[in-house]
Amino acid sequence: MIIDDQHYDVIIVGTGAGGGTLANKLAPTGKNILILERGDFMPLEEQNRANVDVFKKERYRAAERWYDKDGETFSPQTNYAVGGNTKIYGAALVRMREKDFDAVEHQEGISPEWGLNYQDFEPYYTEAERLYMVHGQTTDDPTEPPRSGEFPLPAVEHEPQIQKIVDAIAKQGLHPTSLPLSLTRSEDDPTGDSEVFGIVPALKHDNVTLKTSAKVVCLLTNSSGEAVRAVEAEIDGQSYLFFGDIIILACGAINSAALLLKSANHKHPNGLANSSDLVGRNFMKHHQTAMVELSVNANSGKFLRSVSVNDFYWGDENFPYPMGHIENTGGLLQDIIFAESPPILSVLAKGMPGFGLKQLAKRSIGWWMYTETLPDPDNRVRVKDGKIYLDFTPNNIEAHDRLIYRWIDVLKAGEKKLGSSVFEKLAIYPRGEVPIQAVANQCGTCRFGEDPQTSVLDLNCRTHDLENLYVVDSSFFPSSSGVPPALTIIANALRVGNHLKEKLR
Ligand SMILES: Cc1cc2nc3c(=O)[nH]c(=O)nc-3n(C[C@H](O)[C@H](O)[C@H](O)COP(=O)(O)OP(=O)(O)OC[C@H]3O[C@@H](n4cnc5c(N)ncnc54)[C@H](O)[C@@H]3O)c2cc1C
Repeated sequence: MIIDDQHYDVIIVGTGAGGGTLANKLAPTGKNILILERGDFMPLEEQNRANVDVFKKERYRAAERWYDKDGETFSPQTNYAVGGNTKIYGAALVRMREKDFDAVEHQEGISPEWGLNYQDFEPYYTEAERLYMVHGQTTDDPTEPPRSGEFPLPAVEHEPQIQKIVDAIAKQGLHPTSLPLSLTRSEDDPTGDSEVFGIVPALKHDNVTLKTSAKVVCLLTNSSGEAVRAVEAEIDGQSYLFFGDIIILACGAINSAALLLKSANHKHPNGLANSSDLVGRNFMKHHQTAMVELSVNANSGKFLRSVSVNDFYWGDENFPYPMGHIENTGGLLQDIIFAESPPILSVLAKGMPGFGLKQLAKRSIGWWMYTETLPDPDNRVRVKDGKIYLDFTPNNIEAHDRLIYRWIDVLKAGEKKLGSSVFEKLAIYPRGEVPIQAVANQCGTCRFGEDPQTSVLDLNCRTHDLENLYVVDSSFFPSSSGVPPALTIIANALRVGNHLKEKLR
């Protein structure tokens, strides 16, 4: 064991949406900050999402195996690199709706309130959108929460073919809106992520140190068990011990929970911060369906995501419960849809002999549909013999099916209005539920709240049980809402960052 002779004021574990953003927020304090990241920097060509090979090779999967509730192994779709999953995400940075912070009745149960309300998060959403250069536009989307200002940058324009679809959808009385996107101004690396907007600016400060390929394996407490004293990490096959005053986990909801459980000791026999027995429980991930429409007209295949539709977010006339959020996927040649659901295009390819994947992608328009799953204590991360188990039984399924069929009706009605210009042939809609290994929108495994018996973290995301231990990734979500999570993780990291800056002063 090598003991690092420096003592750090703050140690941050993980550089994704939560950790990367927090590092940037705390860097100007001048405090001695150590960031530990198990991955490395991704070379730019690795980030080239336009390369179809990327998807065939399933490049963005961690080289480790997890286990499902039946003990079957799978390779999780999670990215260990500087920037974490934001290096491969779609960069759609969407605010949760105002009501998402309240208790909401779903068909299969209640999605719990957050303990803080939308107004508490609003200033941080605004700060997050500025930091991540979010391009967007306020429109007449009835679910859009109130904003204290306009988007920092204008929305991207729709691909011409997408514009026609948007117009056709609007004619049906719906409210397609521009999808807020984080974009840099760099042609080489256009997508905004937590390396670009978090880690790189943080490292400009001399007081910040980043160690990559540094996998944290255990947190060690002091003898009373009241605080974390040191962090043990493996670097180049060697064990290192780092000492710090404030320890912040941002490993992603599954890995942070697993690390707390793996760090059990005689003072914390069920895992650190786990007196409530809630660490790892209430794991949520969205129902996420990808749907592909086929058109006889080719598109560029390389356009950005640009549309979102929330008209069914809270339900419709036939189903008075939340259904979810819809986005287009962007040009399928560059969209990660291939990575998440390779079978979708294979199904299409089989139905259209003579069509290569590239040609197929140029004639396809994809849609993502997201529906909230509800927190269930039996959906959980467990650790057994050092291995990660993910027990997950999906719930709230009818709401998702309703969303899919409602959307198919909308697209079909749109096609009729558009005549033959966009869809000369009837579109086909293969669809498939995203399987267990797609853990993109994971959250909920260390929920925050005021009561130590019903939550792991307090409202500042500090563990109730250990005075210097925080968790700032998506673990803190009490509910998943129906929108993608990254903007809320970023906003929360900025909020917790404010609290920590006060504490460090
Ligand atoms: C394909 C894909 C598309 C997505 N698209 C969108 C989108 O368009 N919009 C959106 O809002 N969300 C999207 N998401 C989800 C979004 O990327 C995540 O919600 C977000 O990145 C989670 O942030 P986080 O900080 O919780 O964790 P992560 O971003 O997962 O970061 C965790 C970090 O911790 C590191 N780490 C883990 N364990 C350890 C350890 N033991 N020691 C040291 N380091 C460790 C990891 O390497 C990683 O860098 C997408 C995700 C994927 C996979």
